[in-house]
Amino acid sequence: MQSVNPVNGAVLGRFDTWEWPRVDKALGLAASAAPEWAQTPLPDRAERLRRAAQILRQRRDQYAGIITQEMGKLSSEARAEIDKCAAVCDFYAGEGPRFLADAMLASDASRSLIAWQPLGTVLAVMPWNFPFWQVFRFAAPALMAGNTALLKHASNVPRCALAIEEVFREAGFPEGAFQTLMIPASAVEAVIRDRRVHAVTLTGSEPAGRAVAAAAGAVLKKAVLELGGSDPFVVLEDADLELTVQQAVASRFMNAGQSCIAAKRFVVLEGVAEAFLSRFREAVRALRPGDPSHEATTLAPMARTDLRDELHRQVQQSIAAGAVPLEGCEPVPGKGAWYRPSVLDQVGPGMPAYDEELFGPVAAILRARDEEDALRIANDTRFGLGGSVWTRDVARGEALARRLACGCAFVNGLVKSDPRLPFGGIKDSGYGRELSALGMREFLNAKTVWVR
Ligand code: NAP
Repeated sequence: MQSVNPVNGAVLGRFDTWEWPRVDKALGLAASAAPEWAQTPLPDRAERLRRAAQILRQRRDQYAGIITQEMGKLSSEARAEIDKCAAVCDFYAGEGPRFLADAMLASDASRSLIAWQPLGTVLAVMPWNFPFWQVFRFAAPALMAGNTALLKHASNVPRCALAIEEVFREAGFPEGAFQTLMIPASAVEAVIRDRRVHAVTLTGSEPAGRAVAAAAGAVLKKAVLELGGSDPFVVLEDADLELTVQQAVASRFMNAGQSCIAAKRFVVLEGVAEAFLSRFREAVRALRPGDPSHEATTLAPMARTDLRDELHRQVQQSIAAGAVPLEGCEPVPGKGAWYRPSVLDQVGPGMPAYDEELFGPVAAILRARDEEDALRIANDTRFGLGGSVWTRDVARGEALARRLACGCAFVNGLVKSDPRLPFGGIKDSGYGRELSALGMREFLNAKTVWVR
């Protein structure tokens, strides 16, 4: 595995991938840690999570620096990512006991209830785009619930993967409670099949999701899948354009557009399209691409040149099929994974910008006749992760948001994850939920206990 700086292609480090005997040893450690960790009292589990939060805050700049070096995220965004990881640890340390308390139910028994019990060891297959957050979003609730965790991180963020393991080790989690496996994607199936692994969660692309779901299905193991998205951002004619444009740019260009819940398709009513577009284009032109470690930079490079090249192929095919390039739509020549901030107008069915996920700094504009037409276009996708509606009439916005075919619908706010709220998708965006009590319970046995 290589750690490559996307700013200039410099190799920062090389790491050996593990052969099976090393994986086998880690699985054995997880299996021996699991029963004891499941019996560890909740206050002790919570204390370790709080300690993990402290370590993250103490080493915020160091860990943020690794993120920026390995996948090119702006320093300010990387620091915010570390803070969010600390917050999710504190959240589950505080709320976990409430989520894990027996749920009393009335029945013909004198006493009947749900007892929430950990499943055992959970494998997490994670992506590089929020290399700390995606892992902590899974690990904080899973560990608080008494599960042990194995991380197979994306191959381009090995230093992040090892740093995360260090956080849990130094926070006092027992040996084997959280381990990073330095394995390629091709080794994932064997780990899922191993009897010492009880469930799997994957955050990543749709093809990876299908492979992991098939492997888990073959051995009847629980799987949670957080996959790609092509979220609609629906602008109604009464939207507050200042707020809407500011949030549109943030949602699409944050993390160089490499977010599953980024607004990807801007569905704009005809009546407001020109006003929205002129302000939006101006804001896009004001983005400052540059070194992500410089505070003045507002647009980061993409994480890898192969991803940038794939994005450009999608843009070119869309233009060949009739889309109109308004801004950018070109890679930046030279070393590094740079792509200009881009706006593609007149996007329609049959184009990659309409049918596929654009995982980079390219906004697709789709014009709608009226609200019903906007809803039809918004839902005309095989993805169903998030979506947002922008209008001054919040009742109208909520009514439309409820009709979006997705897992997370926002009104006058960009789609974001929050430890207090469930997060996940429908359709080809996957299944299951992370965060909130629902996320924690994905890897718990909801055991019915009945007493005469
Ligand atoms: P990816 O290529 O699917 O990689 C994600 C993880 O899956 C990596 O650890 C990767 O390992 C592994 N993987 C790839 N193919 C696999 C296979 N056949 N079997 C088992 N594991 C496999 O995705 P990415 O490029 O890192 O991330 C971008 C995608 O993730 C986008 O589609 C984005 O929308 C989605 N995403 C979704 C969410 C969400 O919450 N819904 C959040 C963030 C990102 P290697 O690196 O070793 O190949």
